[in-house]
Amino acid sequence: MNLFHLLDGSARRFADREAVFHGTELFATYAELHRRALALANALGSMYEPGSRIAIVSENRPEYVELMFGVWGAGMVAVPLNANLHAKEVAQIAEDAQAAVVFASPKHALPLAGQLRAQRPVVAIGETAYQQCLDAAPAMPVEVRPEQLAWLFYTSGTTGRPRGAMLSHRNLLAMAVAHLADIEQIDEHASQIHAAPMSHGSGMYIPAYIARGARHVIPASGAFEPDEFLALCNVHASCGAFLPPTMVQRLRQEVERSGLRPRHLRCIVYGGGPMYVDELKKSINTFGHVLAQIYGQGEAPMTITGMRSSDHVDAGENVLGSVGWPRTGVEVRVVDGQDRDLPAGEIGEIVCRGDVVMAGYWNNPAATADTLRGGWLHTGDMGSFDERGCLTLRDRSKDVVISGGSNIYPREVEEVLLRHPGVAEVCVVGAPDPEWGEIVVAFIALSGGASVTQEELDAHCLANIARFKRPKRYLFIDELPKNSTGKVLKRELRKQI
Ligand code: AMP
Repeated sequence: MNLFHLLDGSARRFADREAVFHGTELFATYAELHRRALALANALGSMYEPGSRIAIVSENRPEYVELMFGVWGAGMVAVPLNANLHAKEVAQIAEDAQAAVVFASPKHALPLAGQLRAQRPVVAIGETAYQQCLDAAPAMPVEVRPEQLAWLFYTSGTTGRPRGAMLSHRNLLAMAVAHLADIEQIDEHASQIHAAPMSHGSGMYIPAYIARGARHVIPASGAFEPDEFLALCNVHASCGAFLPPTMVQRLRQEVERSGLRPRHLRCIVYGGGPMYVDELKKSINTFGHVLAQIYGQGEAPMTITGMRSSDHVDAGENVLGSVGWPRTGVEVRVVDGQDRDLPAGEIGEIVCRGDVVMAGYWNNPAATADTLRGGWLHTGDMGSFDERGCLTLRDRSKDVVISGGSNIYPREVEEVLLRHPGVAEVCVVGAPDPEWGEIVVAFIALSGGASVTQEELDAHCLANIARFKRPKRYLFIDELPKNSTGKVLKRELRKQI
């Protein structure tokens, strides 16, 4: 069962329909996409063994889709890497993955070739060597077993050295099926706008959209530009996109600033980081009920729990602040330190099991055994169920602040501070303290033109949360540091304390 069969099916059924757009320009129909992917599969197969790792380092480009399917068609393993990594970091991961070759966009190819030297070849996507691969005769896709690897997913790295989660064909198929079952209604008239990186969040939705014969739209900028995104939503039909919460916020602000409305916006799938209730309400107000949520991690490709857009309608704050319900085919539990189930209302570690859960970490049996102990993926996230099985995420266990023996969940303090009208962004972390063990420190970015004092924020917290949870220090900064997927880099902030 090779994921490639999704493309086989759609190419047969929807041969002349548009499959990939570069901005507003048609890049490939389904028949063309199929032919190009099979040619790439043939070219790869003539150079490397099945099971070889093929690294991809590129901003979002239309070739991304054919390359992924070309790699799968050849029975090889895609290793898409964050294009914002330093060439040295790419070299380190390529070495860890023992990648046979690195496909890089022209702007990354040269620095990478310099860094990798003779160790592994670099092919510039879209240029001569790549075009020669496309001239190969189409090959038959290689047979693979469902448990064979399809994607080595290097986690986005907000917490240290990246690790490669091994995702199989079965994992990605289970993810695609769960997406279609739980989150989005997609048919051949739908378009997916790839604004978030295709190496991570957005690329994970390629199989589901291919399965339905839908369109992939890659912005000409290769990234998320709010005004470009809005314009694309007025050109393409029935638009959906995965956007991390920070991009949802920027999009909303752009709509408010410009007055432009995305006419064909059907669905924004948000997740990958906390969506604060205040921002969610504002976004629903601006876009209507088109927002759906996913909670997951690289180790269970963005498929642990979720919330349909309809779950947001007339929902209370407790549901809006949650991550929704377990996804189809995924068992989710909240457990204590000995992996015993905790009752509704009690906070523990979130663990899950199902066809979406990775086989383990590449070349790292110790981390695999620890993370998958007892056959359950230990997410490192803390959360609690309510009586209806709705999961609320607190924070990653290592981000919980323990002050004077009490657990303080940064997200709860952040939600309160964000309700202050002068606060644009906030991130709460713990800092070592000789008296309390740890104290709560809040990094605050103020809204343009606002002037808010520490005393005002303190009074605001005292009016809303327990005294012991309020920050003991406030540090004002212009903007929170984030990685390319929009996640706040807590470790960068901790260095500033
Ligand atoms: P990564 O594997 O790097 O994409 O990071 C996954 C982590 O992001 C999860 O373990 C959570 O801590 C966080 N995360 C993912 N989805 C959500 C969500 N919907 N709400 C809050 N945090 C999330």
